[in-house]
This record gives sequence, structure tokens and C-alpha cells, in this order.
Amino acid sequence: MEINFECKKCRCIFDCDIGNVSLLENSDRPFFEKKIICPTCGERSMDELLLTELGQSQLTQATLDFEVDDLSDFGFYEGECQGCDMFQPLNDLGLCEECAGKLERDLIRESDRDNTISGYGLDSAECEEIRKKVIKEYGEKLELIASNKPKKKKCKAAKRKKKKAKTA
Ligand SMILES: [Zn+2]
Ligand SMILES: [Zn+2]
Repeated sequence: MEINFECKKCRCIFDCDIGNVSLLENSDRPFFEKKIICPTCGERSMDELLLTELGQSQLTQATLDFEVDDLSDFGFYEGECQGCDMFQPLNDLGLCEECAGKLERDLIRESDRDNTISGYGLDSAECEEIRKKVIKEYGEKLELIASNKPKKKKCKAAKRKKKKAKTA
């Protein structure tokens, strides 16, 4: 990618292709894949350069993309899974890999394709194909959503108690 720099020595402003940007673990400074070359002075280190306003927003954009990519990966953080209560690496929904798979299949079974990963952006016919495949391989019964149903019943019971208390 190209970043806009200003050379501290000759004061010229130039675009430089720095390749990929990565963030190093022990530094808050971004690491550039390629060397930064000033058109008049040649190779420059980061200390001999300034980021222009444009350069700053280009760099922010690049590192933002980087963080978003990280979030979608498994193992972003560890904790108690919302589905099975086991301590495991979780995704951004707070589900372990196995439960995330169950949820995905449940959403497909319920044709809730906007919330699925595999059905996103597909038309209803394509989604129905995936649904048939899931039901054929894993059965028609809901896996994760079903296990949450007792909790919902408890909620309803609590509400009923409240009503009784009011009438009494
Ligand atoms: Zn220069
Ligand atoms: Zn789980």
C-alpha cells in the first residue's frame, strides 16, 4: 500500500509504496514491509520522516483493517462459552468453535440466513440447498437454540408469578 510522507531533511512530500503494514507485539509502531525512499534523499528511516495528515489516515485505515481481521478469528479471547459453559477460546459471539458450528446450523435450519456465515448474501433457493444438506447430515433437531429453551420457560414462569402477586 502507499503512504504519504514528508521528508524532514528536504521537506518534500511524497507517496511511497511500503508493502504490507504489520503491528509488532512489543512496539506500538507499525512495521513496514518495504523501505521508505525519499525521491531526493534516498532511503529514510521512520525517525527521518513525518507522516502527513493523509499519511496518518492511510496508516490508521491499514491498522484498523488489521484489527478487524483479528477479531473474526477464533481464539481471540478465552472464556466460558455461552453454549456449553466450558472454558475455551471463543469467537466474538462468546461461543466456542463447536457451539458456533451448532448455532450456524440452527440458524440455517430456521432459514435465518442473514445471521449465518454460510448463507449470507445467498438467495432463498441457494439457502434451501444448504438447509437440506445440514438436515441430511446433522438432522432436523435444533442443537444450540433448543438447549436454551428451558431458560425461556423459566422467564415465562417468573412473569406469571408476578401477575399472581398483583391480583392477590
Ligand atoms: Zn528528502
Ligand atoms: Zn461451547
